[in-house]
Amino acid sequence: MAQEKAKAGKSKEYTVEEKLKALYNLQKVDSQTDKIKILRGELPLEVQDLEDEIAGLETRVDNYKDEVKNMEDSVTAKKNEIKQAEELIKKYEDQQMKVRNNREFDSLSKEIEYQNLEMELCEKRIKEFTQQVKDKGGIIEISVSTLNERQDDLKGKKSELDGIIADTKKEEENLIKKSEGLHDQIEPRLLSAYQRIRSNARNGLGVVAIERGACGGCFNKIPPQRQLDIKSRKKVIVCEYCGRILVDENIDSEPEETKVKKETKVKKETKGKKETKGKKETKVKKGTKGKK
Ligand SMILES: [Zn+2]
Repeated sequence: MAQEKAKAGKSKEYTVEEKLKALYNLQKVDSQTDKIKILRGELPLEVQDLEDEIAGLETRVDNYKDEVKNMEDSVTAKKNEIKQAEELIKKYEDQQMKVRNNREFDSLSKEIEYQNLEMELCEKRIKEFTQQVKDKGGIIEISVSTLNERQDDLKGKKSELDGIIADTKKEEENLIKKSEGLHDQIEPRLLSAYQRIRSNARNGLGVVAIERGACGGCFNKIPPQRQLDIKSRKKVIVCEYCGRILVDENIDSEPEETKVKKETKVKKETKGKKETKGKKETKVKKGTKGKK
């Protein structure tokens, strides 16, 4: 809040005309940045997509490997069970040699039979797990080769993008610096309006000049009275069709009369200008309060 106030105080120094000029210049700078981004095209998105896909594949391969590890552990466990069964069978067979009656012999025979069944069951499970390990191995192989392909794609796309970025980096940095410098000359409310319109517009234009009596953004005709209002540069006027902020086509250059006036009455004007400036500011401020 305090920061906003400080910023608003800073931009109080500027007239509506100066703000409009700053906005128009900001638009030109931002449009140049847009052009650089267009040059990069879909590459940044493609790189992002590939990075996401690779991360997904890596997780999947890791999960498969965990599953294989678990199955291999199960195989080892089953092999141990078989060993134990074999030992038990050997023990029971030894005991059978020393039995005193048929009942004891039969009981041991049953135990041996049971351990043999257990061993069979373990063999069956080992076969199943081994097959699963093999199947998973095939899936892992396919996933890994897809992963490698994607990583190669990513490498290529990234170096292409890095090349483009390197070519335009300095330019882009300068443009961003310029853009930020201009932000200070525009009150926050107007700036955020500009940024909102710009982000909604397909061509990235938030401020447009009148071109042959029409809005330079949507090309709808502007009524003559409105054109005069825009030329006077005393109010921020937006296109009633597309909502873009409108400026006159000569916003870059001083209108002929003011040029002469300024040259001859630079010192005299300062006082008068300050008064009108004060008035305009209160107007803008009231507008803000009313909206909030
Ligand atoms: Zn328009």
